[in-house]
Amino acid sequence: MRTIALTCLFLFAASAQPASNFVLLAHGGAGDYSKMTPQAIEARRDVMVKAIRAGYEILARGGASLDAVEATIRVMEDSGLFDAGRGAYYTKEGVPEMDAAIMNGRTLEAGSVASVKHIANPIHLARLVMEKTPHVLLVGEGAEEFAKSQGIELVSPYYFYTEREWKRFQDAEKEKKAGSGHGTVGVVALDQAGNLAAGTSTGGTVLKMPGRVGDSPIIGAGTYANNDSCAVSATGTGEYFMRNVVASDICARVRYLHVSLDQAADDVVMKELVAQHGDGGVIALDRQGNIATPFNTTGMLTGVVRADAKIKMSGWSKSAEPVVVPAR
Ligand code: ASP
Repeated sequence: MRTIALTCLFLFAASAQPASNFVLLAHGGAGDYSKMTPQAIEARRDVMVKAIRAGYEILARGGASLDAVEATIRVMEDSGLFDAGRGAYYTKEGVPEMDAAIMNGRTLEAGSVASVKHIANPIHLARLVMEKTPHVLLVGEGAEEFAKSQGIELVSPYYFYTEREWKRFQDAEKEKKAGSGHGTVGVVALDQAGNLAAGTSTGGTVLKMPGRVGDSPIIGAGTYANNDSCAVSATGTGEYFMRNVVASDICARVRYLHVSLDQAADDVVMKELVAQHGDGGVIALDRQGNIATPFNTTGMLTGVVRADAKIKMSGWSKSAEPVVVPAR
């Protein structure tokens, strides 16, 4: 009798555990959120929740981390609220030039695009570069010609018009003040098969020079995934992330120094970058489902979901109490 009761208890405990260990972690950019109204922060949080739900559904039904990463980023690109896709910052010339990358941690296949001006979802084009070409990175007109060949409609610059970005452009022009804002988007995910993936999409920094490319589409700088170590998406002033090949450095520390993900990410973002005044942060995830979200700015909006179907949003300030909402 006692054995039966114990067996039942064991079976119950086993079934109460989440069936798998999938994780999806997203960011909505590092920077200073203190000048944003609570309503504006809430609006971004709401979009991120919607985006994370799209990724969660894919992972929950056994889908690939790569698909979850792309689906989550697309929702944020379409919202117009982030520095990616529809809401991308403008260059000095008053039009956006966008960069994006995606990477498969199982195969190390990667695809990215840079300086595209007429693509609504740069993350999708990056995925096509990975899957349909022998190359890793396509830029500018060549990338857009390739998009056309894949049946992607090129959108007019007016697609990217938002009052917010137009005003930011005019104000920045007046002050001649280029620099980083916040709103790049990135996602890392671990699927039920144990595969990691990472993706990042951005309009880059405020009033950047036409032709400037940041860290996001540079594999190993702003985006990296490798099943042997970890998956990383970065945000911040890209020049520092490129010089320090931040994403691959974090994964290399995990792989070769055998330090925890947390320590590797923290050492790079809070020590190396801080010493160089490199502002920003990263989201990182390993195959055990450990996550790290260090940022050396005042904020970095993040959201994470696991098999328990709870989305935990945090990071709009260092002391922000996390907000937890159901994934369904
Ligand atoms: N890392 C991006 C870039 O430099 C910008 C950002 O994340 O805010 O292009």
